[in-house]
Amino acid sequence: MHSRPCWVEIDTLALEANLRLLARLARRGCLPEQALLAIVKADAYGHSLADCAPAAVRAGAGWLGVTSVEEAVAARRALAGAEAEILVLSGPFPGEGAAVVEHGLTCSVWNARQLDELARAAVGRAAKAIPVHLEIDTGMSRQGVSGDGLDAVLAPLKESPALRLDGVMTHLYAAEEADRLATERQIARLEGALVRVRRAGFAPPWLNVGNSAALLDATTRNALVALAGAAGMRLLLRPGLAMYGVAPEFSPARSGEIASLSAGLKPVLSWKTRITSLSHIPAGETVGYNGSFRAERATRLALLAAGYADGLKRQLSGCGHVLVAGHRAAFAGRISMDQAVVDVTEIPEELVAAGDEVVLLGTQGEVSVTAADHARWAGTIPWEIFTSIGARVERRRLQGSSDPALLPSLGG
Ligand SMILES: *Cc1c(COP(=O)(O)O)cnc(C)c1O
Repeated sequence: MHSRPCWVEIDTLALEANLRLLARLARRGCLPEQALLAIVKADAYGHSLADCAPAAVRAGAGWLGVTSVEEAVAARRALAGAEAEILVLSGPFPGEGAAVVEHGLTCSVWNARQLDELARAAVGRAAKAIPVHLEIDTGMSRQGVSGDGLDAVLAPLKESPALRLDGVMTHLYAAEEADRLATERQIARLEGALVRVRRAGFAPPWLNVGNSAALLDATTRNALVALAGAAGMRLLLRPGLAMYGVAPEFSPARSGEIASLSAGLKPVLSWKTRITSLSHIPAGETVGYNGSFRAERATRLALLAAGYADGLKRQLSGCGHVLVAGHRAAFAGRISMDQAVVDVTEIPEELVAAGDEVVLLGTQGEVSVTAADHARWAGTIPWEIFTSIGARVERRRLQGSSDPALLPSLGG
C-alpha cells in the first residue's frame, strides 16, 4: 500500500517511441540483420522492470539486458510468455547455472570458471547447448578476456558440447567522447579478437556492442556496422539511457545529428510528490538542519514528502529546485531523510495549497526539471539519479500506457 504521496509515473508509450527511434537509427547502417538489446538492468534504471521489459519487447527489442540471473528471472516473469532473448551482462555467479538453463538465458562469459559452472549445470538439464556471449576486454579493464587470455577461454569452449558460442561482446567505455580515440582503439582490438575467434573455428552469429552514445554517434555506429558486416555477423546494439528518454552528454557537446536525435527522445519517468503543509517565517529565521538557509525576507515555505531516503540527492540542497504551480521553487535548507522544504515566496499565494502536486523530475506547464539537471546539481550522472530513486517510491504506469498484461495478444 502506498499512501505517502511520493511516486514516479512511467510513460511506457514514450519508452516505446524512444526505442522505435533508436531502431530506425540502427537500421540506417543498411544491414537488415541488426537488432536491439534493451538494457533493463537495475529495475529498468529505476523505471520498473515489470512495466518497461514488456514495453521494450512490444517496441521491437529482440533482446533484454539485465545484470544478474535474478533480474533475468524477474524479466522472464514480466514478459508473461512473450518471446525475447535475455542476456545476463555480469556473467553467471557460482551456483546460478541451473537457473540459466531453466529460464533459457544467455550469459556473458570470459573465464573458464564461468564456462565450467554452465557446463556442469547442463548435465541432465539442457536439451540443447547453452548459448554464451564471450566478452572481450578491449580496454575498460572491468570484465572480459584480454588478448593474452583469449586462447585459454576458447579452448574449453571448443571442447564443451554443452556450450555454444553465440556472440562476441565488448563494452565501449568512452563512446560519448567526441574525439573517439578510445573508441577507435577498442574497435581495433575487437576486430583483432574476432579474427582469432574465427581462426579457432567459431562462427558466432552476434556482434554485441555499443551503448546509447555509440548508437547516437553516426561515426561509431557506422564503424560497428562495418565491422559486423565484414565479419559476417549480426550487430546487436545495447541502448539503455536513451531508451528512457535521456541522451548521454557528449564532450565536447555535439550539435547537428546528435543534438536533433537527442531532442527527439522523450523522458519516460516523472517523479512527483505533494505539499504536506505551508508555513511562513520572518526574515532572519532559519530552515532545516544546521540552519544552512537563513531567510532574508518574510518567506513562505512548502514542506514536501520526499527526502534523500527516497533518492532525492542531499547535494541538491542550496542549488536545486522543484516545480510548483508551473513555477520553479528552490530548496530551502538541507534536504532531510524523508522531507524537503522549498521556498514558494515568489509564487502567487492563491496558486499554492497543501495537497498540491509538486514535480521533482519532469514537466509542469512550461517548465521542466531533467535528470541531467539533478545530475549537474548533485555532481553525478543521470544514470545514478534514476537508479537512486528508492524502492519505497511507488511506480505508477501512466494512464494511457498499454497494459503489460495485454502483451501476448498484441504480439511481439
Ligand atoms: C548499462 C550498459 C549498457 C547501456 O548503457 P547506456 O549508456 O545506458 O546506453 C550497455 N552495455 C553494458 C554492458 C552495460 O552495462
